[in-house]
Amino acid sequence: MRREQLTGERDTIAALATPPGRGGIGVVRVSGPRVERIARSVIGRLPAPRVATYCEFHDARGEAIDEGIALYFDAPNSYTGEAVLELQGHGGPVVMQTLVGACLDAGARLAEPGEFTRRAFLEGRLDLTQAEAVADLIDASSREAARSALRSLRGEFSAAVDRLVERLTELRALTEAMLDFPEEDIESFYREDALRRLTDVRAQLEATLASSQQGSILRAGIHVVIAGQPNVGKSSLLNRLAGEDRAIVTPIPGTTRDALRELVHIEGVPVNLVDTAGVRETKDEVEQLGVERTWRELSRADVVLLVVDATAGVSREDEEIVARLPRDGTLIRAFNKADLLPPGARAPRADSSRDVHVSALTGAGVSTLAKEILRAAGWASSGETVFIARERHLRALKAARAHLEDAAARLSEWELFAEELRQAQGFLSEITGEYTADELLGEIFGRFCIGK
Ligand code: GDP
Repeated sequence: MRREQLTGERDTIAALATPPGRGGIGVVRVSGPRVERIARSVIGRLPAPRVATYCEFHDARGEAIDEGIALYFDAPNSYTGEAVLELQGHGGPVVMQTLVGACLDAGARLAEPGEFTRRAFLEGRLDLTQAEAVADLIDASSREAARSALRSLRGEFSAAVDRLVERLTELRALTEAMLDFPEEDIESFYREDALRRLTDVRAQLEATLASSQQGSILRAGIHVVIAGQPNVGKSSLLNRLAGEDRAIVTPIPGTTRDALRELVHIEGVPVNLVDTAGVRETKDEVEQLGVERTWRELSRADVVLLVVDATAGVSREDEEIVARLPRDGTLIRAFNKADLLPPGARAPRADSSRDVHVSALTGAGVSTLAKEILRAAGWASSGETVFIARERHLRALKAARAHLEDAAARLSEWELFAEELRQAQGFLSEITGEYTADELLGEIFGRFCIGK
């Protein structure tokens, strides 16, 4: 069997599939071999598959709990691939709890987080990226993120990865054949063909990686840290970007002592804005702690937004901040208070493409700044084939890329060449879960809620 060898009868699991609390409808989902028995106990019969059946729900003593709709899916035509029963009752906490209790009394056990989806994976209904996409779709914080999760759920990401695996398999087969018949004329012919195919696969991998990197931005968001001297307008700018008055704006220097966080969406991309305490040398202990925190935040930022008072220009401390930033971080300088500049005047030293003139007071330049943040983080927003991707997908794609690069350098050492291809293929197969360690499955499904 391809995935997990199953021994003995699997447990039948049950859980509330809708959020706890009050709602028009609440759904209890049951999956596993004892579904028929549970259906007979709770609703007195097994409904016809896929037909909404109105019935009364009973507990183990036969007392009525609720009335509602039962939906039965016979194996393997269900979400999990097993027999599944869905009971739709009135969505109150007591009703739902009693209904779950009735299913447990009739032979189910309570499902663990993500267990329904885990079973769908083990039954081959979903591959691993699709299972992850279920969680990403449910957790999506914007329409764009939801759209790209749906794309992965429908298998577009898996298909792109499978295509790569297929091409590599062909190339490996050709290489093996060539190794078996090492005549020289065959080799020179083969060499050309192999090079062409390898170049193709590498280009395709690059494209998949690019789409995944976009998706990863959409899923994880962009971490923007706002830095700059006291009173240059950091809090005001954060408020502008957030569109709400969250930070306390005061004209006294050094008042923003705590890092202040705000989640905003720019073109559907989640952006975490962190306003920091500044990096001013200070004797005040509380403020000193804030300064240390600022440095920590700065070292973790995807984008550092350095706010400069446009009327004063870049200060020595600003330059110190820039000098201490990690090299791979991206810097945007926002020359704020542009409204105070005399008409026609240019703010000082706004010379690089990552410099933006803004006014937190009037809002001028703020939308340009928002776009610049996206660009600095690498968001290209083609909007088309963005695959919601996780860190593990990116790591595997990059590892595969490195092996293909090594393969390209070994074009006539055919045994080593074949080995690099094999390794690259191994990393790609990990993505869709063809070969997956149990602990990875635990980690992925453990983050789901119960009932998914
Ligand atoms: P922070 O200490 O860097 O967070 O600065 P604040 O956001 O608290 O702002 C300091 C002062 O500058 C406040 O009095 C704001 O009203 C003022 N301020 C902020 N942005 C602008 C701006 O774009 N133009 C003008 N004229 N004043 C601003």
